[in-house]
Amino acid sequence: MIQGNDHELINYEQQQQQQQIKKQQEQLQYHNQYHHQPQPLLLSDISPTWAIRLKKKQSHLFLASLTRLRWLFEIIHPKKCVVAEAYGFSSSYTNNCAECARIGNRFSLYFAMYLPKKIEENQQRFVKHWNEKHLKI
Ligand SMILES: [Zn+2]
Repeated sequence: MIQGNDHELINYEQQQQQQQIKKQQEQLQYHNQYHHQPQPLLLSDISPTWAIRLKKKQSHLFLASLTRLRWLFEIIHPKKCVVAEAYGFSSSYTNNCAECARIGNRFSLYFAMYLPKKIEENQQRFVKHWNEKHLKI
């Protein structure tokens, strides 16, 4: 039964080789997907400070906290809000981009009224708009 064993060994080697090739193909695919195509930015790239703040779960305790009050004052401030951060804490967008200004106003409103779902939607809208209109590659 030595022959049989050899045969199994060859099969085993072929399988190993095929697996190796498959693995390489997958790695190449991964590489092409993540390294050769420009990736759209996320809010954490565009406005990192606010991305962290907006992610924070707003418990009842947090809603009444001074931190939230401070963030509320900042989110309604044209030079300190989510959109302003993307412009390097400048309010230039208020004159230059109507969509950015609109999105900035919505962030203030939704944050003040505590509407997490609306904030999330507005966040997506901002990220999409930023990638389409303001991203320079
Ligand atoms: Zn804009």
